[in-house]
Amino acid sequence: MRPEILFPLFAPVTSLPGIGSRLEKAVETLAGPRVVDLCWHLPSGLIDRRFSPRIADAPNGVVATLTLRVEEHRPPPRGRNRAPYRVLCSDETGFMTLVFFHAKGDYLLKTLPIGEIRVVSGRVEHYDGQVQMTHPDHIVPLPRLAEIQTIEPVYPLTAGLTLKPLSRAIKAALERVPELDEWLDPALAKREAWSDWRQSLLRAHAPEAPEDLEPNTPARRRLAYDELLANQLALCMVRHHTTRKAGRQITGDGHLRARALAAFGHDLTGAQKAALDDLIADLAAPYRMLRLLQGDVGSGKTIVALLAMLVAIEAGGQAALLAPTEVLARQHAATLSSLAEAAGVRLALLTGRDKGKGRQQILGDLSTGRIDILVGTHALIQEDVVFKDLALAVIDEQHRFGVHQRMILTSKGVGAVDVLVMTATPIPRTLSLTVYGDMDVSRITEKPPGRTPIDTRTVPLSRLDEVIPALQRALAAGSRVYWVCPMVEESEDTDLAAATARYRALADLFGDKVGLVHGQMKAAERDKGMEDFASGRTSILVATTVIEVGVDVPEATIMVIEHAERFGLAQLHQLRGRVGRGRTASACLLLYDTPLGETARSRLTILRETDDGFRIAEEDLKLRGAGEVLGTRQSGLPTFRLADLEAHADLLPVARDDAMLILSKDPDLKTPRGQALRVLLYLFERDAYVKYFQVA
Ligand code: ADP
Ligand code: MG
Repeated sequence: MRPEILFPLFAPVTSLPGIGSRLEKAVETLAGPRVVDLCWHLPSGLIDRRFSPRIADAPNGVVATLTLRVEEHRPPPRGRNRAPYRVLCSDETGFMTLVFFHAKGDYLLKTLPIGEIRVVSGRVEHYDGQVQMTHPDHIVPLPRLAEIQTIEPVYPLTAGLTLKPLSRAIKAALERVPELDEWLDPALAKREAWSDWRQSLLRAHAPEAPEDLEPNTPARRRLAYDELLANQLALCMVRHHTTRKAGRQITGDGHLRARALAAFGHDLTGAQKAALDDLIADLAAPYRMLRLLQGDVGSGKTIVALLAMLVAIEAGGQAALLAPTEVLARQHAATLSSLAEAAGVRLALLTGRDKGKGRQQILGDLSTGRIDILVGTHALIQEDVVFKDLALAVIDEQHRFGVHQRMILTSKGVGAVDVLVMTATPIPRTLSLTVYGDMDVSRITEKPPGRTPIDTRTVPLSRLDEVIPALQRALAAGSRVYWVCPMVEESEDTDLAAATARYRALADLFGDKVGLVHGQMKAAERDKGMEDFASGRTSILVATTVIEVGVDVPEATIMVIEHAERFGLAQLHQLRGRVGRGRTASACLLLYDTPLGETARSRLTILRETDDGFRIAEEDLKLRGAGEVLGTRQSGLPTFRLADLEAHADLLPVARDDAMLILSKDPDLKTPRGQALRVLLYLFERDAYVKYFQVA
């Protein structure tokens, strides 16, 4: 349960003055639906209204606060509504005109009564020999001068929301911010010269100079640290309650591994060996393994996973391999089965397509232990899938799976199940801690020998004509070609239209050699499209980005990406990784539309320069910023409101160590500091995450 002290912060934004149903949506898009979201919406600028000259001394273009006497109203002449409404004001040094467009006369007469003194703040303009101010930001009576004559924070805005109501709402939100018990280690707070949480938040909202907007002010650093600490604490708690739980010690004698390796016929690369050693050590340790194997497409994760599974089987257990799609599950089963067979290990495939008798047979063999390795899709995590003794679960391409599925799969073990997660999405080191803080990470940073690098070229779309003859030659020589069509806007429909049009155009040239797959096809249809291409029935596959995830067609040697400027760097890299898997030289054509924006140009240049997924991930981080790299919405990975993973990178390991130390001393957060930390978890909404794991 959320602690009562936080209730005011989690009230809806509509509980704030000035935020009614009309502005609710805009505030929600901009910051979020609750009061706390507005607290996290920090200023991006400031307006200094302390300058209070007399009219004669007010320079052009400067923001100033002036005390004026209202002299005369000059409404626009009848029938000329587009002309401005002017109000003439004065002080002892001269005259100033306030200018209003689309003004309501009544309202102006009320706020600027003739003969009265008013404080007016806004940008001074010298126009046509006159001093004027168009739409002053503030007009108040003299007693409220002090209120205006300050430095005002400026917030990022969104369509339909102006600064005034937003600032007012944020001000009201900040008034609700309670004092909270300190959760920080006092030594750290002292070393960094941080104030308490509430003070820091208020400071961050009250910049006094442009430097105060920098991410590295004490106030902003403290807030960032709190967020990172909440994140690390949640991840470490997960780890505490799952991984570090007693696990079984799994060791094998190596006889199955030796046979499989002999059948594989290659030596493992140094990186593969190191990763395998990590896995063997984890399996042998008396706690539960939770390790992430990161490696670029084609870096050879599969054989490493198989060898780990064989350790489990040597020790008398079973293993499961969970793949995100039917095609991938089949492909894994196909590549692994010959090696499994060579090792004398029984491997079966279970997908949604298995029904009735066939499925019953598999389930029977699984529960009696006649199957050693079960490869499959989501079908693996159905309730009636029962293992005799599941010891190791391998999960491929984890972004497609929630943590939830991981939990269900591991609950299928008799005792603790060790978990290996594989991903081809390289996450920069700086982000790795925040995303995979609950996992140990091994990285395969080297590709197996004998790969010819992919020849990557950028070609303007206007030269499409020259691409076609080259394609014709390649097809005649037996190549297979992926042709990826862009994401047009955010909509699947337009996406589809572009792919369909390209498919038709290519089919006109190449006939029934052309296939099409897209995200709106039924899974079975899509699989068929992929299979036709894999088997060579078609040799050009037009696709939307559905082919992004790990399908392996070694004969595919050409990747054409249309409107490459619209794809993200990581995505382009993933797509390119679909070719260059065999021994033949491969090419990647990045077709771009002109004019090319600066970021798009940098992206394409990086791709031409390097094929190293980790380096590309780092560059991507630089170009896009952390939030985007993590692609929160789709991936379910955490986002940060206050921490800037580049500017605050140094705080991450501190938060990580802090969290581990806290949990080693106070695993259930029972001490007074532990209680304060619980509030922190609720404040950053990491509570659900933690509780979820505790029950799972
Ligand atoms: P990933 O799953 O990491 O994308 P794979 O495991 O599918 O990569 O490996 C890509 C290709 O490289 C496969 O054809 C695999 O047989 C081959 N391969 C893997 N390791 C080696 C190695 N050490 N030497 C030679 N070829 C290898
Ligand atoms: Mg793979």
